[in-house]
Amino acid sequence: MPRLGWASSGGGKVAPAVIVHGGAGAVPQGEFADRLEVLIEARQAAWQIAAAGGDAVSAAVAAVVILEDSPLFNAGTGSALNRDGFVEMDAAVMDGESRAFGGVAAVRDVKNPVVLAREVMNSEHVLLACEGASRFARERGIPAFDPAALITARQIERWRQARRRNLGEKSGTVGAVVMDAAGRLAAATSTGGMPDQRVGRVGDTPLPGAGSYAEAGLGAASGTGYGEYFMRSLAAFRAVSALRGMEPPAALRSALGEIASLGGHGGMIMIDSAARTFWDYNTESMCTAWRDSRGEGAACQR
Ligand code: ASP
Repeated sequence: MPRLGWASSGGGKVAPAVIVHGGAGAVPQGEFADRLEVLIEARQAAWQIAAAGGDAVSAAVAAVVILEDSPLFNAGTGSALNRDGFVEMDAAVMDGESRAFGGVAAVRDVKNPVVLAREVMNSEHVLLACEGASRFARERGIPAFDPAALITARQIERWRQARRRNLGEKSGTVGAVVMDAAGRLAAATSTGGMPDQRVGRVGDTPLPGAGSYAEAGLGAASGTGYGEYFMRSLAAFRAVSALRGMEPPAALRSALGEIASLGGHGGMIMIDSAARTFWDYNTESMCTAWRDSRGEGAACQR
């Protein structure tokens, strides 16, 4: 069935759509180009999977793995350090079709938390934390990764700055939202959390409806920003639910406005049921890359 005027290539296929983000915050202008290069690589990886008939979850996870492996972003390798100077990561995947959700929280020893989140999604659970998440990873054949190898010189410097309460750049969480060629939606998000966060602090990223949400026939979103506010406003769920009565730009505005009314800030990417990509933020900058039937692009500022 054609979707709101979008070209249907037959066999129930629709034009896929992909949007990825590398966090909202204050990215130094000098880093825009490097970050966009990786975001475009992630976008293309997801696009190729979706265009070749792969499922939206696989495409979103593939994009996030590329972003986790880049030391430029606060996810996987290059994650922010917590108060004690080590990495604890959160990640999630949601399949809009089945509304299955998998999250991992405060996990310390896997290279790609989003891959583990997908395993959780395919289990009887929704969320696994800390050591339990690590044990589950081993059960599923995901090897232990040296926690020291997740730490970059850049994050050691950020941690020192945070300790001096002098933190400049604060972004780098990553996410991907995909609609595949069968019209299925998925969202995936991954983060090292907030620099200097307390040990055991868990943000919005691994919680359904807070940092990620996908619902068939409606839309999907991945958020980034001050997680406590995303949790309190169920930001991703709020934005997607708002699509029932609003156009996507207004839906994003209203969810970000709710966060702002509580005192927080951040950004979100979204795909609606017509396979259109959108993004918005109320921070200084937000790096994204997108592709849909209207075209493709990448930018750190609107
Ligand atoms: N939302 C993430 C958290 O609070 C951080 C971020 O997106 O920059 O853990």
